[in-house]
Amino acid sequence: MAEKNEDKQVMMEKIVSLCKRRGFIFPACEIYGGFANAYSFGPYGVELKNNIKKLWWKKFVHSREDIVGIDGPILLHPKLWEASGHVAGFKDAMVDCKKCKKRFRADHIVEDATGEDMEGRLEDMTITLREKKIKCPNCGASDWTEARNFNMMFQTQMNGIEDAVYLRPETAGAIFVDFKNVTDSMRVKIPFGIAQIGKAFRNEIVAGNFIFRLREFEQMEIEYFIEPDADWEPLFEKWLELQEEFTREIGLRKEDVSRYEHPKEKLSHYSKKTIDTMFKFPFGVKELYGLAHRGEFDLTQHSKMSGQKLEYYDAENNKRYTPHVLEPTFGVERSVLAALISAYHEEEVKGEVRVVLKFPKAIAPIHIAILPLSKKDELSVPALEIFNNLKSKFICEYDETQSIGKRYRRQDEIGTPYCVTVDFETLNDQAVTVRDRDTMAQERIKISELENYFKEKLG
Ligand code: ATP
Repeated sequence: MAEKNEDKQVMMEKIVSLCKRRGFIFPACEIYGGFANAYSFGPYGVELKNNIKKLWWKKFVHSREDIVGIDGPILLHPKLWEASGHVAGFKDAMVDCKKCKKRFRADHIVEDATGEDMEGRLEDMTITLREKKIKCPNCGASDWTEARNFNMMFQTQMNGIEDAVYLRPETAGAIFVDFKNVTDSMRVKIPFGIAQIGKAFRNEIVAGNFIFRLREFEQMEIEYFIEPDADWEPLFEKWLELQEEFTREIGLRKEDVSRYEHPKEKLSHYSKKTIDTMFKFPFGVKELYGLAHRGEFDLTQHSKMSGQKLEYYDAENNKRYTPHVLEPTFGVERSVLAALISAYHEEEVKGEVRVVLKFPKAIAPIHIAILPLSKKDELSVPALEIFNNLKSKFICEYDETQSIGKRYRRQDEIGTPYCVTVDFETLNDQAVTVRDRDTMAQERIKISELENYFKEKLG
């Protein structure tokens, strides 16, 4: 067991190191000594992340007649967060170790030590921490402050506004406040959804596990509005299946994905059901995506707070009502991390270890690498011509440095599905060698047929 955990830790370390070495993800502000749990996406990381977002938008917005997209602001009216309950209730329990001064999630420390879930019960957490002499995971002491609540919204100030303004802790709020604009301007007919991709900010007490828990991250969310008396359970199940389908499209293995249903007694009073899509990360089975039935809570709250009617008019049956909502939510960085973990392979080839990221083609940062065998003009000129022809249709990279073996290794490590090698034979047969990332098989293809060849392979 211990060995297995070690293996998993080693695997995470390998992924973190590959991400930095190969330009996927860098620790933020390294030249200033780093900045706690913040990361930059490098040249390949941003391609991977954008491809995941594009795939999501295509699947849930462009391919559906019942979902439209919006892009709302990060800084929203302060009343919105009062109405949604975030000002009063978006908090986690924290506790400090008096000896080493490190801060922890109190409920997590208690649950790890006792197996008991005490979420929301501050006093019980303090008593348990002290009576059971639970040890600080950092220094081993057992000297705790009281557990207390901490609101996770980032506050800021805005010129001309007296109230505190918050950086949005989720993207959903921006969707609800535009419900009326969307129903007034678009021909949406219930059931319909409004989708959005954007940044969210949470002042997490403990961030970590690489890009799993960040303070600044992106969400892809849909509010799917349904009739209040609709038969919602089949729709809920359908959304769960779509979330699982998306995990497969970004390359996650079926056996690593599972469901976790929140117990009824822990649901918010307005929620009928919440199920998380879980992924087997090397540091445990954790939430990847969420799906919640939120009833009419959000629209009703915003209607009360704003004094505006937020209803749907059903013209066919001449009736007005406040729709209920199903909320499928997806984390972008957690998708990126799960995709990296699933794609990571080590294989033995001729006594050496080959590291290869076997991304699905749709999300690979680079589709095709064009590699002339030598830097000399006689090869680099035709190779650049191939690059210039293919680059408008596919994401391509041109690389003429180092030996061909090293270049293949590099492309395997960034998950490029195809390498095109231009060699001296090309000058005679007007053909190139196409190498497949997964099988390493090489095929000779005429330059004039390359575009069609890749259209078929890459779609
Ligand atoms: P957790 O229990 O892990 O804190 P949550 O239940 O608070 O997550 P939601 O509020 O349901 O998360 O947020 C929707 C999605 O946003 C999550 O499923 C996850 O993919 C992503 N997400 C939430 N918090 C973070 C974070 N701090 N860093 C990165 N992604 C996050």
